[in-house]
Amino acid sequence: MATKEFQAESQRLLEMMINSIYSQKEIFLRELISNASDAIDKMYYRALTDESITFNQEDYYIKVSADKENRTLTIEDSGIGMTEAEVEENLGTIAKSGSLAFKKETEIKDGHDIIGQFGVGFYSAFMVADNVTVYTKSADSDQAYKWESNGADGYTIEPAEKDSVGTKVIIKLRENTEDEQYDEYLEEQRLKAIIKKYSDYIRYPIKMDVTIQQPAEDEESEAVEVEEEQTINSMVPLWRKNKNELSDEDYESFYQEKHYGFDKPIKHIHLSVDGAVRYQSILFIPEQPPFDFYSADYEKGLELYSSGVLIMEKCADLLPDYFSFVKGIVDSEDLSLNISREMLQHDRQLKLIAKNIKNKIKSNLQSMLKDEREQYERFFESFGRQLKFGIQMDFGQHKDDLKDLLLFYSSKEEKLVTLKEYVERMPEGQPYIYYATGESYDRIDKLPQTEKVHDKGYEILYFTEDIDEFAIKTLMSYEDKEFKSVASGDLGIDSEEDKEKEESEEKENQELFKAINELLGDKVKDVRPSKRLKTHPVCLATEGEISIEMEKILQQMPGQNQQVQADKVLEINMNHDIYGSLKRAYDEDEEKFKLYANLLYNQSLLIEGLSVEDPVEFTNDMCKVMA
Ligand code: ADP
Ligand code: MG
Repeated sequence: MATKEFQAESQRLLEMMINSIYSQKEIFLRELISNASDAIDKMYYRALTDESITFNQEDYYIKVSADKENRTLTIEDSGIGMTEAEVEENLGTIAKSGSLAFKKETEIKDGHDIIGQFGVGFYSAFMVADNVTVYTKSADSDQAYKWESNGADGYTIEPAEKDSVGTKVIIKLRENTEDEQYDEYLEEQRLKAIIKKYSDYIRYPIKMDVTIQQPAEDEESEAVEVEEEQTINSMVPLWRKNKNELSDEDYESFYQEKHYGFDKPIKHIHLSVDGAVRYQSILFIPEQPPFDFYSADYEKGLELYSSGVLIMEKCADLLPDYFSFVKGIVDSEDLSLNISREMLQHDRQLKLIAKNIKNKIKSNLQSMLKDEREQYERFFESFGRQLKFGIQMDFGQHKDDLKDLLLFYSSKEEKLVTLKEYVERMPEGQPYIYYATGESYDRIDKLPQTEKVHDKGYEILYFTEDIDEFAIKTLMSYEDKEFKSVASGDLGIDSEEDKEKEESEEKENQELFKAINELLGDKVKDVRPSKRLKTHPVCLATEGEISIEMEKILQQMPGQNQQVQADKVLEINMNHDIYGSLKRAYDEDEEKFKLYANLLYNQSLLIEGLSVEDPVEFTNDMCKVMA
C-alpha cells in the first residue's frame, strides 16, 4: 500500500501543528467533536429526507473514550461518514476548508496567533498525537476505510472493517516531555473539563465512560468502582431556550458559571434574531466594574459561538469600546467555524451582528433610564465614565448614540439629570446650557462664579469628573444650545443697560485694574471688574478653550507639555466692600495696594483648588493685614 504525500498547503499546516508550541493544545478535542457534530448533522438531515434510512434519536451521539494502557483517545460518531474519495479529499487536503488558504506563507510560520483563535480543524489532532487513525464508513457505501498518518510522512488509505455508519478517530498521544504532559488527555476529569469548556452546547450527547463509586451492598462488602456511561455536555444552551421559560435566577447563575463577574448583573438582554443575519445572544450589564476595568489590561469582548461551538472566548469586534463593560455570548449559524480572526474582522455577518448588538444595548439602556431610573443611576455610577469616553472617542462620531445616556449633577436638586431634562426646563430666554467644574458637588456649589447664573434662576450642571468637560467640548451643543462654563468670559446674561453701566465704571477705574495686571505680570492674562460676582470679592475666569479644570488634568498627564495653561482672568467685585479698601490703598499707600492685590489673587487660586505659589508669604501677608 502506497503512502501518499499531503497536498502542499496541508503539509504546511501539519508542520505547524506538529511543532506547535501553542499552550492551548486542548482545543484539538473541540475540533474533533465539532467535526463529529457536523457529520451527525448531515446524517440527521439525510434521515429526514430519505425514507430508506431509519435513524433513531438515541443513535445520534458522540463517544469519547480513553485507553490509558495504549495511550489512545478515541472520538467516535454516528455521523454521515466518508467514502474513499471523501477521505482522500477531506483529510489529505486542508486548503478547501481550513483557514490556511487565506494566509500567506510568512504569516503561518510560527502559527502562534492562528491556532486557538479559530477552527484549525482536523489536523489540530497532531498537536498532541504522533499518530492518527481514522475508521470511517459512509452512508453511501458498504465498504469502510482506514486512514492513517503520523503527520510527517504522509498518509495511507486502505479498506477496513467497520460495522456501523460513522467515523472513529483514534489518537495515539505523544510521549510526555519535560514541558508537556500529554497523559492529561487520558484523564477523565481533564477530558470532562475540556468538553464542558468548549463543547457544552453541542446539540448531540457527548458520552464518556465515567468511573463512579458504587456504595457497598451490605456491611461486609466494600464500595466498588464501576464504569458508567454519562453524557458530559448539557446540550441545550440557555440562549436557545425560550425567554419565557427562564427566570432571573437562571440568567444570574449563567452569569456566575461563565465567570463574567462576581457581582450580580444589573440587567440581561436575551436576543433571538432571525433577519438578514441569524443569531442568538445573551448580554449582561454588570453592576460593578471589574477591578481592572479602567486600566489598559481590561479586554472587552463577547464569547462567540458558531452553531453551538465556541470559536472565540473574547470577540472584541462585537462590542464598541464605549460598551466594553457588556458581557455575554453570541451564537450564530451564519458564521463558519473555520474563520480566522483577521477574516472575522471583515466578515459582513459579524459586522451586522455587532451593529445589531450595539443598537440593542443602547435601546435597553435608554429604557432602563426611562423606566428604572434608580437602577440606571447605579449603572451610571459604575460605567458612566466609559460612556463619556465614548463621546470623545473616534473624533466624536458616536456622540449621537450616547448623548442621551449621559447624566450630570445639577444645581437644581442634588441629583443626576439628563441633558434632555435640563433643556426641557430651561426658562425662556436662557441662551446657554451652563456648567461649572470642580472636585465635588459641595465645592462647585460654593464657587463664586456660579452666583450670577444662580441668581438668574438658571440651572447649572455640576461637572465633578475630569472627563466631563472634555466630553462636553466634543458634544459642543445639545439641541442647538451651546454649553457655557460659568467661568468663561461672556456669560450672555447681561442686559444692554448693565453693560453700559459696567463699561463706564470700568473706564473710571481702568488705571487701578491696569496696575494690578502689571503687578501680577504673567500670572494672569487680564484683571477686570466682575460681572458674575454678587457677594463674593474675587474669582478667576478663563478665556479661550482651556478651562482651569482642564489645565489641571492636562498638566497631570504623563508626557504632556507643561505649558498647557488656561488664560486666567482675575475678576474683582466692584460692589464688594473690599473694593473700597483696594481703591483707597491704590490712591494712598503703594505697599498696601500691592499687599491687597497679591492677597486677592492668591485667594482666587485657592477657590479654584489651585495652590498658591508661596504659602509662607501668603500667610505672612494675611497676618500683616490682621496686625
Ligand atoms: P472543517 O470541519 O472546517 O470542514 P476540518 O479540517 O475540521 O475542516 O475537516 C475537514 C473535513 O473532513 C470536513 O469538512 C469533513 O468533510 C471531513 N471530516 C472530518 N471529520 C469528520 C467526521 N468525523 N465525519 C465525517 N467527515 C469528517
Ligand atoms: Mg472541523
